[in-house]
Amino acid sequence: MTEAPFRTVFEPFRIHSVEPLRMTSATYRREKVREAAYNLFQLHALDVIIDLLTDSGTGAMSRDQWAAIQHGDESYAGSPSFFIFRDAVRELFPFAHVIPTHQGRAAERILFQAIGGPGKIIPSNTHFDTTRANVEFTGAEAIDLVIAEGRDPAALHPFKGNMDLGRLESLLAERGSDVPCIMMTVTNNSGGGQPVSLENLHGVSDIAHRHGKPLYLDACRFAENAWFIREREAGQGEREVPDIVREMSALADGMTMSAKKDPMGNIGGWLALDDDDLARTCRNLLILTEGFPTYGGLAGRDLEALAQGLKEVVSHDFLRYRIRSTAYVADALERLGMSCIKPAGGHAVYIDAKALLPHIPPLQFPGQALAVALYEHGGIRSCEIGSAMFGRHPDGTESPAEMELVRLAIPRRTYTQSHMDYVVEVAERVMAVKDDLPGYRMVQEPAQLRHFTATFEPIG
Ligand SMILES: *Cc1c(COP(=O)(O)O)cnc(C)c1O
Repeated sequence: MTEAPFRTVFEPFRIHSVEPLRMTSATYRREKVREAAYNLFQLHALDVIIDLLTDSGTGAMSRDQWAAIQHGDESYAGSPSFFIFRDAVRELFPFAHVIPTHQGRAAERILFQAIGGPGKIIPSNTHFDTTRANVEFTGAEAIDLVIAEGRDPAALHPFKGNMDLGRLESLLAERGSDVPCIMMTVTNNSGGGQPVSLENLHGVSDIAHRHGKPLYLDACRFAENAWFIREREAGQGEREVPDIVREMSALADGMTMSAKKDPMGNIGGWLALDDDDLARTCRNLLILTEGFPTYGGLAGRDLEALAQGLKEVVSHDFLRYRIRSTAYVADALERLGMSCIKPAGGHAVYIDAKALLPHIPPLQFPGQALAVALYEHGGIRSCEIGSAMFGRHPDGTESPAEMELVRLAIPRRTYTQSHMDYVVEVAERVMAVKDDLPGYRMVQEPAQLRHFTATFEPIG
């Protein structure tokens, strides 16, 4: 006898160790955010109640990851923890060379230092902010070629992270000799945590290889992407996630990774690739700033925790809960009339601040205005992904970003459904005052990645 499945998709874990949350008042938070020059990155985390700034490194490790940490071997060279890490990576991504780094951006810096430079072009579906910054820092040009649906928050498409194959083909036809590699971000973080289909990855891989170009995955959320493929792509519904991941990996020539995302780490990353000569160059760059190639800026215990995290993240029970719990928040916000990128992404809900706050022009940062309001009203920290993040260009000019989004990133295994119900209630209160929210002026900004340290003031 088969019984009907239950509707409730609950957290597939029990709580083993707890961290208290610190409650604060709205008056106190208004003072703190003013002191932080309206930049939420500058807040003291103790002054945040629900921290949805990022899902990067903020997840809860499992009992088995903490146990693995005790196995960490801190030998400078040839630590057994490195080989456990390398084998766990290769189980899913069978590249010849696995080079640990302290974060994803270190892998990006090393790769683009090796293959970028003035006159070069790196196309991607959408470069993440650190990827774009590391490409541009070498003098190369970062180009985003996501499909048109991927740039429209309201367009419904199962794989809004897909690359526009026609535009990739014409770029390679026109300027192929300037392109050292093609990147694919899975899932597409800056485009709303939207997945890329296997079919599209096959298409990109075919085009890249026909033009003799290597394909690199920015694979931070590979497991979430594979789950979306399993759920949404024809003929994939019966496959195991690790099997889908290996197929994604087989289409590429290498990858950059932030292990602070799907590998369930609090720190870490890697660069993996097949090209022996390039790997040699990258290892030499690694030694210069990160460390010896068997630890790359990480402790042996970190490598052990990541190896265990890679085994846990491909669990179907985890991924079913993960993807459903994100959609739960997006559905609730939509019911309040707060329009979100549709369909909901894997790791985060992206609110369309341009649609919500039409009285604030893009270069007065409607996303920043909404993010500040969510903090003032409920102590929720979110992240603007719009003109504050992407409005300044390498040539010094400023223009509006494609979308003005506020990202509520959901740390892995950290908050429960009642925390999310509170987030929705705070959003409801912000909705009631949205027409009165002020725009912002950027007072000071650094040359790169300005959103991390810029200072703001409200207008009027
Ligand atoms: C986080 C992230 C990175 C950079 O990784 P860090 O570990 O933060 O340096 C690169 N690409 C994507 C898609 C990311 O989400």
